[in-house]
Amino acid sequence: MDHHPHVPWDARWISLLACPACHGTLSAADGPELRCASCGRAYPVISRVPAFLIDPTAAELKTLNLYGDIWDAYNQEKRRSRYHAPAASHLELLRLAAGCDIAQGEAGIDAGCGAGHTTLAMARQHAGIRFIGIDLAGGIRRTAAQAQEIPNLRFVQGNLLSPPLAKRAFDFVYSFGVLHHTRDPRGAFLALAERLLPGGRITIFVYKDFSDLPLKKTLLAPVTLIRRLSTRLPAPVLRVLARCNAPAVFLTLTLPARLLRAIGRPRLARHIPYGTFPGIRGIAASLEDRFGAPYEHRFRIADLEGWAREAGLMEWRAVDCLPWGFSGLVLSGLVSRAHVTQGIPKNGNRPEETEKIGKLG
Ligand SMILES: [Zn+2]
Repeated sequence: MDHHPHVPWDARWISLLACPACHGTLSAADGPELRCASCGRAYPVISRVPAFLIDPTAAELKTLNLYGDIWDAYNQEKRRSRYHAPAASHLELLRLAAGCDIAQGEAGIDAGCGAGHTTLAMARQHAGIRFIGIDLAGGIRRTAAQAQEIPNLRFVQGNLLSPPLAKRAFDFVYSFGVLHHTRDPRGAFLALAERLLPGGRITIFVYKDFSDLPLKKTLLAPVTLIRRLSTRLPAPVLRVLARCNAPAVFLTLTLPARLLRAIGRPRLARHIPYGTFPGIRGIAASLEDRFGAPYEHRFRIADLEGWAREAGLMEWRAVDCLPWGFSGLVLSGLVSRAHVTQGIPKNGNRPEETEKIGKLG
């Protein structure tokens, strides 16, 4: 292997990266850093993870600090307890909603991988596929340290709006619950689609706008109002508030949902927010997420149709995830060989109003 003494990335992995500033090719420099051949910028490699943060905005820094490890508690609880959603995990949801495996081919991206635990699980499951987990937050470094023995996994710290990843180099990209927390979700989606080889699959989950559900839309209004204040709170204060309020959420939402399932009304239970959560610590993590993230965009199926058209996707589908117990939308499709956008896709053969399937070309 042509490992550079200071950088634990060989040429085969480095070729999957690109300078986020100018898309130039990178190479290992003398120190623990990667250097761009075109613009000369150097990016430090810290604990095996290259850091590609160019002038992060205040909101990005806040997002970065928020998401370091808040979901760890949720995942620990989920492993210990019975999990109630019809999809066994977030990635299982993406597979069900996409209607096929989300990881395929030789190399792929987990876009916004958080602490990287599920990326690690995916890499173990698919030993023949190379995974790059990318996130703004530095929590990936702990996971990268644990994953040193996993040959098909690497992490990079970077921004999804200018991913430090080579264009037309990957067979798939998936992203769960991340794009809506970026400044420009559509821009991030298009940037990720650009990283795919022709025929590569992109699958993303985002929050939904409840314009089709007046009751939920009404319930969301106070949440949006509280967010105006809560997103300005210092992180430690928000964390304490989230922990103090989690038991109340558990008692008023999670427990009633469990009761509904116990008496044979699972479909009703699916409409209750936090109804599938495994425990109080996970709820606290989610409250911190929901009330602390600087950006929280919401989307309609029609928005995702627009993204699919702009990215020139073929054989795509945009679906509401409620049947699987998740409140959000999934868009999954293949990047067209021609990369051309053509007209408005015809609706496919699935009758549900909340689902659209497009076939281009
Ligand atoms: Zn450059």
